[in-house]
Amino acid sequence: MKQLPKRSDVPEALTWDLTKIFKTDADFEAAFKAVQDQNAAIQSVQGTLGHSAAALVAGLTKILDLYQQLEKVYVYASLKNDQDTMNAKYQGYQAQVSSLATAVSANVAFLDPEILAIPEAKLNEFKQAPELALYQHFLDTITANRPHVLAPETEALIAAAGEILGSPSNTFSVLNNSDLKFPVVHDEAGNQVRLSNGVYGTLIESTDQKVRQEAFTALYQVYGQFKNTLAATLSGEVKGHNYIAKTHHYKDARAKAMSNNHIPESVYDTLVHEVNDHLDLLHRYVALRKKILKLDELHMYDLYTPLTGSAPLTYTFDQAKAEAKNALAILGPDYLSHVDEIFDNRYIDVMENQGKRSGAYSGGSYDTPPYELLNWQDNVNNLYTLVHETGHSVHSWYTRHNQPYVYGDYPIFVAEIASTTNENLLTEYLLKTQTDPIVRAYILNYYLDGFKGTVYRQTQFAEFEHYIHQADAKGQPLTAEFMSQYYQKLNGQYYGDSVINDDQIALEWSRIPHFYMNYYVYQYATGFAAASFLSHQITTQQPAALDKYLNYLKSGSSSYAIDTMKTAGVDMTQATYLKDAFKIFETRLDELTELLG
Ligand SMILES: [Zn+2]
Repeated sequence: MKQLPKRSDVPEALTWDLTKIFKTDADFEAAFKAVQDQNAAIQSVQGTLGHSAAALVAGLTKILDLYQQLEKVYVYASLKNDQDTMNAKYQGYQAQVSSLATAVSANVAFLDPEILAIPEAKLNEFKQAPELALYQHFLDTITANRPHVLAPETEALIAAAGEILGSPSNTFSVLNNSDLKFPVVHDEAGNQVRLSNGVYGTLIESTDQKVRQEAFTALYQVYGQFKNTLAATLSGEVKGHNYIAKTHHYKDARAKAMSNNHIPESVYDTLVHEVNDHLDLLHRYVALRKKILKLDELHMYDLYTPLTGSAPLTYTFDQAKAEAKNALAILGPDYLSHVDEIFDNRYIDVMENQGKRSGAYSGGSYDTPPYELLNWQDNVNNLYTLVHETGHSVHSWYTRHNQPYVYGDYPIFVAEIASTTNENLLTEYLLKTQTDPIVRAYILNYYLDGFKGTVYRQTQFAEFEHYIHQADAKGQPLTAEFMSQYYQKLNGQYYGDSVINDDQIALEWSRIPHFYMNYYVYQYATGFAAASFLSHQITTQQPAALDKYLNYLKSGSSSYAIDTMKTAGVDMTQATYLKDAFKIFETRLDELTELLG
């Protein structure tokens, strides 16, 4: 077992400097107390918003300031906690800010209903006041779905049932994260390892087919034992979505979910249509896999192992920073100056240490620098992670320095585009600079696997999700058999004839947490494709492509996500960006076929 360093033994230069948020813990504690007081005072705003334009401005200012201060203490506590989750003091801070956040959102829950209760004509009259100009779009996002808002007492009844409606998702999560017991399987060295969803993710990428097969079989045996329970939780979740949509007079659950984010449904339909139109490319890639891996039978558990074996490139953290800057130079000196700022000022917590939260993220708030948590390993995957998280960080920097607080964040639909564009720029850069065929093959495979897992797989999920919602709305019981049958058929369509459509995969729906997130998954696919399109526009130096891209990074939530992306140069209601992304996939598939052929 590799022994990780204690937090206190990590060199300071490789840790993030959180004194930029609060100089000392005492400053945090004072700020925390101030937010508590602010939260207590906010009740005086309730009932005043409809009085006049001036009262509305005053109320909104108070509420937004409360959120702004809350975010700052929240970020400090959660970053401190993530750097060493075994530290009791910061566990305490984290618990305190979580319950304060819950208290604030309960306290401010009157905001939307109270604004919606202002008659439309009166609110329009308010909006003429110059001091409300800043809040126009903010108010529009609240009132856009006015026709679907029920009487206040009805909305209150439904809101009070929120925890009950969340119960299927909670049950799934408890079962999936703690109650399910997985058996012991073997890793590549023949060691016994206890299976879990995390361990499965590693074993399924093993270069040893026996290891992959054993993990796959063992995992689905467990889910198979609970398939009826898991069908019941997913069915309950779907019924909840359909119920909320129906009671609010939406055509269906998807219309409701997408109108929450002001995304036209055509975005979803266009995605599904184009992906289905380009399944032949996925079939070709799967067939190439079978050939290169020299397998008589390619199974569903053979789809994640790298075609070229282990990674031929390594990077130290310093080398990775230099390479990231080379790859991102195409975004211009201004963008690069923010990358430098992030790299040179201890905004990144680099090393793994005992108790540190796993994975990687970019976090922060309007009043803090963008911080990045990494668990650095010297490989190409981590170089990709670094450019990905730096994409989020620079996006945050631009947004927070160009937008007032009210628009100083960005919605999920556009968030992953900034990070994935950077990954795509890195791919373009590596393909431009690496000449060794083995390295090129590795990079091409990395890209194609990313595309397969994001664009194809998430669209497959999206199709399944929509299908079961519609089936339920028509009165079809969502049994394990019904869902498995459809899932396996869909899986066969996606991956084609080169792969054995193993029976176990029919149960994949039973273990996907995102199916409890109400029409969320499609955004991974649209985001990846939009990023492919945008990075291609930038690297081929299309007129104004870079300026438009930087404007998108600066726009935060000052307009609807779909309009933000239009100004970035990609119309996500149309098929062009998807067709362009598939073209890139095809070109790279051609090159990989030639290299490995
Ligand atoms: Zn991300």
